[in-house]
This record gives sequence, C-alpha cells and structure tokens, in this order.
Amino acid sequence: MLKQVRNLTRSYGVPESWTLRVSREQGGYESARKAYAWPAQQIIDEVKKANLRGRGGAGFPAGVKWSFMRPHPTLPAYLVVNADEGEPGTFKDRTIMELDPHRLIEGCMIAARAIGAHAAYIYVRHELHLAKERLWGAIREARDAGLLGENPLGSGWAMDVQVHTGAGAYICGEETALLNSLEGRRGEPRIRPPFPAQAGLFGCPTTVNNVETIASTPTILELGGEAFSRLSDLHHLGDGGCRLFGLSGHVQRPGVYEACIGLTLRDLIYELGGGMLPGTKLLGVIPGGSSCPVLRPEETVDAPDQKSVLHPWHGMSVLDVPIGVDTMRELGTMAGTTCAIVLSDRACPALALQNIMRFYRHESCGQCTPCREGTGWMERIVDKIVAGTATIEELDMLYGIASNVMGNTICAFGEGASMPMLGFLRKFRKELEQHVRTGGKSSTGRLNA
Ligand code: SF4
Repeated sequence: MLKQVRNLTRSYGVPESWTLRVSREQGGYESARKAYAWPAQQIIDEVKKANLRGRGGAGFPAGVKWSFMRPHPTLPAYLVVNADEGEPGTFKDRTIMELDPHRLIEGCMIAARAIGAHAAYIYVRHELHLAKERLWGAIREARDAGLLGENPLGSGWAMDVQVHTGAGAYICGEETALLNSLEGRRGEPRIRPPFPAQAGLFGCPTTVNNVETIASTPTILELGGEAFSRLSDLHHLGDGGCRLFGLSGHVQRPGVYEACIGLTLRDLIYELGGGMLPGTKLLGVIPGGSSCPVLRPEETVDAPDQKSVLHPWHGMSVLDVPIGVDTMRELGTMAGTTCAIVLSDRACPALALQNIMRFYRHESCGQCTPCREGTGWMERIVDKIVAGTATIEELDMLYGIASNVMGNTICAFGEGASMPMLGFLRKFRKELEQHVRTGGKSSTGRLNA
C-alpha cells in the first residue's frame, strides 16, 4: 500500500538543507544525544526491533550485523559507510549526502557508538562531486560545533568521520573490495572468512553499512524501534520501516521517493512515477538495480502454499506485491536497492541486455576465471544477437555460461552479472529469438534502456 512519509527526506526541499543550521531546525543530532546516553547494547536492541534491513542491496538485518562486533583487547573497531553507489539505475544514497549530509554524520555517531568505534570512514564514489563537497562541509561544521571530536555532545566518546574517495570502480561497492581500496590496495574482493566483523579495515573489527542504512538510524531512535518497524506492511517478515525508492526509465516522473515498505511496483510506476510515457505500455521492470532479474507485467503470483510469504498475493499481478527483501526473492528477483528501471514497449530487450552485459564485463575485477571469462563471453554473444549474427545454439549457450558463473566466484558480482542474463533469457526468450531469426530486427522498439 502506498504510504508516503518524510523521515529520511524531511529536509529535502528546504533551502540550504545541507547546513547544520537547517539540520538542527529539523531535529538533527537529537537522536545522537539519546544514543550517547544509552549503553551500546540498547542501541543495537532498538535497531534490531526496528527490523532495519540493509538498504544497499543484500538486505541483511543491520542490528544483527552490529551484534557480530566483539570488543578486541588491543585493536580499535571501525565503522565504514559504503557510499560507492554504482549499481546502474540506483541514485538514492547520493540524495542523502547532497541534501542532508548531517543525517548521515548523525547516523555514523549512533552506529559507531553501538559497535564501539571512534572513527567512521565514508567511502564515496569519485564521480559524486556534490556529495563529497557537502559531506566535507558538514563534517567541518560538525567539528566546529563540537559534535565530532574529543568530546561530542559532552559524552566523552571521542568520534570523528572521514571521507575517502574511490576511483569509480563498481566492484569497490563490494564491502571487502571497498576495504582493500580504503587501505590503498587494489580494489579486489577478499576471500571470506574472515568477515569484516572479525578482521576488516587494517585487520581490525569493522562494520560496513550502506548510506541509507546508517541514515535511517536517527529516525529509529526518534520513533522507537517498534514504531519504525510497524511503518512497514512487511514488518511481520522482519522487513521494517520506510525507505527510499528510485525510479528511472520510460516513466513520466522518474526520481527518488520515500515511502513505507509495502509500496508495490504498481504504486511506484503509476502513482509516484505518474505512469508510462505517453503512448507506451509497460514491457518489463527491473525492481532494484541492474543485477535484479526483470519482471514482466503479465506475470502472476503462483503461491498456493499458505506458508509462502507470497500466499496473500496468490493469483495477483507481480506488480501488486509489496517490494520487500523476502517478497521479491520469492518472486525470483530481488528488492536490491529498490531503485526500479522501467522498460516500455518501445524498448528493445536485446539492447537493454547488451547495455547491462557491457557494464558487467567492464566492471569484473578479473580475479575469478568464471567471472572474468564468463562476462566477456556473454557480452560477445549478446553483441552478436544485437547485430543479428548469433545462432539459436548461442542463445541456448548463454544459459549454461550464466549458470556456471553463479556460485563459482569469490564475490557476489558473479551472481550480479548472471542473474539479469538468466532473467532476460527466461522472460524475453521470444524477443531474443526473433532477433536471432530475423538478423537483428527487434520485435519492439529500438529505445535503449
Ligand atoms: Fe572479481 Fe568477479 Fe571474482 Fe568478484 S566474482 S572477485 S568481481 S572476478
């Protein structure tokens, strides 16, 4: 159900919303004050009650992740914020950094206090110039106001936040590659275990969280964990609160919207997004960034088993299922970053797939043979499909290549590249076959996604 709220986006649209003055007028740093008066465990418990699932794509419960941190007798703990937002179609975290950077700093203070850290590093994607500038400015203001430093808010809990800029590699959004990059090494994923909570940044216990995840914590402390959780229609599934939803592609009002979890793809596309571009119909939607398998509007939910999380929507259109971590997973796709990419019937599925595969081939770090070779192989075949020189055997071969990349790599990038491929093969087989049989003629339009 569509329930719009203004928690994370409270300051959006207020003149100079990125300044400390405006932040304070909107209640900024009051939750940090509360956190500093609480024992660390109480903060973790509140975030657990909030059912805050990671907003970066994996959807892991944030409070549980924080509870993995154990005080080390000699090593410091670190908080690292993943602001390397690079998933195609995803552009929500940057709005927080650009329009309300103090909310992120306040979230860092809360999270760091909970996990026993005195330092937080925000790893920002290089291209996000305005985000970096606004964060640097906000950190300066916070230091000058005594919100960061030796004695923030008179708490005695020394705390500082640093911004580190990446160089624009997508793989540095993977948490262990990000840590390598932060240490000045090549941005390649590490083999786990050890996990970052055991040995993360500089070998010290580390929690890595996404920007929106951290920026949600001031709201959790303001409303209370249970109240935050109950904002969501899916709180009974452990998926609580409100979140940012992005929308791009062939809709009338692309953008970033805040709503309670429970929002459906239909709400997002037709209510918030104003519907499809004039004269076009919905062909498909990628629910949460390019690595999520595509859904088609004709699909219905097949969940006769009452134990299925999808049972309440059995027989309904997939567009009417609330966008949640577990609901989308059961539909065979992912909520991901909840930034949907919409394809109209004027789009060519082969071109859209080519666009996606080019990206993944380019961004593979190359450590694992299945990913390094598989992404290149898939891209070359898709190029041939688009050019009209592929064979049906090659189209079939794509299933095998994508399936063999899945689960055989160091990091989840292998899945991220294979899942959209498998999704397009399953959902657009007829269109891709037509490309092959007609020498590259699209059954729909030629609009690229
Ligand atoms: Fe690198 Fe791909 Fe292996 Fe991840 S799966 S480590 S991106 S080669």
